[in-house]
Amino acid sequence: MIKVFKFGGASVKDSAAVRNMTDIVRHHAHQPLVVVVSAMGKITNAIERIHAARFDGKPYHEELNEVVRFHTELTDELFGENRSGKSALQSQLDAFNQALNQPCTSNYDQEYDSLIGFGELISTAIIQAYLEAEGVSSVWFDARKIVITDSRFRDARVNWEASRHCITPVQQALHENKACVIQGFIGSDSRGNSTSLGREGSDFTASIMAYLLDASEVTIWKDVPGMLNADPKKFKDTVKLDRISFKEAIELAYYGASVIHPKTIKPLQNKGIPLHIKSFIDPRAAGSTIQESTENDHLIASYILKDHQTLFSIATRDFSFIVEDNLKEIFGILSELGIRIHLMENSAISFSIVFDTDKHKQQFLIEKLHEQYSIKYNEHLTLLTIRHGNEDSLKNVLHNAETFIEQRSRHTMRMVIKTETAV
Ligand code: ASP
Ligand code: MG
Repeated sequence: MIKVFKFGGASVKDSAAVRNMTDIVRHHAHQPLVVVVSAMGKITNAIERIHAARFDGKPYHEELNEVVRFHTELTDELFGENRSGKSALQSQLDAFNQALNQPCTSNYDQEYDSLIGFGELISTAIIQAYLEAEGVSSVWFDARKIVITDSRFRDARVNWEASRHCITPVQQALHENKACVIQGFIGSDSRGNSTSLGREGSDFTASIMAYLLDASEVTIWKDVPGMLNADPKKFKDTVKLDRISFKEAIELAYYGASVIHPKTIKPLQNKGIPLHIKSFIDPRAAGSTIQESTENDHLIASYILKDHQTLFSIATRDFSFIVEDNLKEIFGILSELGIRIHLMENSAISFSIVFDTDKHKQQFLIEKLHEQYSIKYNEHLTLLTIRHGNEDSLKNVLHNAETFIEQRSRHTMRMVIKTETAV
């Protein structure tokens, strides 16, 4: 009965948080346990800035010093006189420096992936050493040797077959009653280049590990009591969803509920592995469970706001209909640019899509389309999704918001609205 735990950045953001997560792990370490950990606090953002500066040939040593200082202080606080934490940290910092000192190529995404995982590599090295120091027998694993992916840097797809062949050392360590500590978010391609699974991808790593190991359950430890029906930072009076289906959870995550990464659900659903979302602040509380049964899905209305959306409308100039051939061409361009469509709508002569605002991609899109089509767009809109709601739930949220598009299906209402007026 293997369990997989995932601890995100907030759950390891300082030494008190690491002590707290260690208590949670210790409490469960009598059974086979895999512990997937993210970078500490906001370290991934700092490494993104280091990468951007390095790529532009600008200085980044202040930012780098900050990353080093953060981890050094935390390690000092955790370990005191015990040297094991310091040497675990130092070996990862050396590797990080080595990567930074490689000549920088012109491949932005590959350079990003060569650096971004060091947040996770450092955090797991410190945490595994701390678990040992606290008497929890554990082994550190390098996710780049287990999670094998393609070479789509920053958005790598898992090669399940290749990864399956690499999981044996983890199985052996579990067999020897050792807690297995591994980085979320990263992997490597078949040539050994570091890759990453997309921001916030550590949840997905937890479910990859569970799938490969046929685990009995996954728990994601969060700073909220479970999966809520809305983001408590944006809505008051939120309610916890005690038990919902994989199907409901994947829809909520896809529409923008940020509590779990949308890719997390599929591997778990495929093997029927339940997912718990629990509070690391109150570890004994029940949390939320995501599983097969759809029984409870309709009980509570959920509200999701996705900000920074662009509504982009493409219309024929000569009043000819937008037909399949036009759409085929437009979709080809969208796919080429890696634009993810969150909502679409078509009329006789126009086709509208909603996606994350991205100046760069919008400019490309306009360049590709403007000769044939007339283009209009609005930025900084919000996509509101309500699942299992009714007219009242809508009134509660919308007030006098200006609505650009409205779509309704049996269980879902979706609206593109102007941000300032929402909620
Ligand atoms: N550290 C990575 C990020 O912040 C991965 C994760 O947290 O899941 O995006
Ligand atoms: Mg993170």
